[in-house]
Amino acid sequence: MQIEIKNLTKTYPGGFKALDEVNLTITHGMFGLLGPNGAGKSTLMRILVTLMQATSGEVLVDGKEIGKHRKEIRKMVGYLPQDFRFFAKLKSWEFLDYAARLAGMSSRRERAERVDEMLESVGLFEFRNRMANKLSGGMKRRLGIAQALIAHPSIIIVDEPTTGLDPEERIRFRNLLSDLGRSETIIILSTHIVGDISSTCNQMALLNEGSLIYQGTPDNLVELARGHVWRSEVTPVQYEQLKEEVPIISTIPSGGGWEIQFVGDKPDHIDAIPLDPNLEHAYVHFMDNKLAHWNLS
Ligand code: ADP
Repeated sequence: MQIEIKNLTKTYPGGFKALDEVNLTITHGMFGLLGPNGAGKSTLMRILVTLMQATSGEVLVDGKEIGKHRKEIRKMVGYLPQDFRFFAKLKSWEFLDYAARLAGMSSRRERAERVDEMLESVGLFEFRNRMANKLSGGMKRRLGIAQALIAHPSIIIVDEPTTGLDPEERIRFRNLLSDLGRSETIIILSTHIVGDISSTCNQMALLNEGSLIYQGTPDNLVELARGHVWRSEVTPVQYEQLKEEVPIISTIPSGGGWEIQFVGDKPDHIDAIPLDPNLEHAYVHFMDNKLAHWNLS
């Protein structure tokens, strides 16, 4: 299975260009779409699930243009939107049963089996009789992924699923997604949280202000930041100057000054030791070089 996004542009009424000639190929496994708020991630997700039309360009799923095969595509896709909410007062199992009916599962027995199976796999079976809107934030998100998965989709799209979750719930949610990633499905995870990508995705893209600035593996992105991450001990005066020049990503008091880590080109007036980069460093490096245009696979 393959999704090809070709020259995709979305201009909103009023003239704002949220996506600008995006080209991207996505195959099975976990694909992470990383970018700051406003990058255009939700816009891209909404186009992929056929809830919105692009201004120009096309999206092909196994060679089929999604706009021309909307019904078929919707059957293949499970979607957890960013602003997922419960509109009805239903118990957790009733909510999933409702989602299963909406997805076209007409047999009551088949639905009951699938609902129990999903409640088990997202760890909510013991909460099946609790009202869905009375679940904790993390549980709601897990119920959200269960409704997205109920009809065995081959493409799963989750938009900012870990925002607002505490660290424990975030790890639990990531593990749930990586378990799914082992199957033959495509899972697209959109996020502005670097940790969501580093712990789960084998492929990723970086989106900023509607443009794709990187496509490839997380490891490759990290390697591109090598030679651009530094540790240094600086005086308060040096610190004041340096913070105008490069992004400082950590600051620990040391002696009369600071032990710092920064990203970018090392200024001549500072002594510094190069550090092994991680994905967080690479993200800061690329975002700081917004004008640089990379497309590596
Ligand atoms: P992200 O999901 O990466 O935060 P979005 O796709 O939600 O980004 O938004 C990208 C840009 O498009 C933002 O600047 C946002 O304000 C703008 N935008 C989103 N929806 C609309 C809309 N319906 N009308 C006009 N502008 C919009």
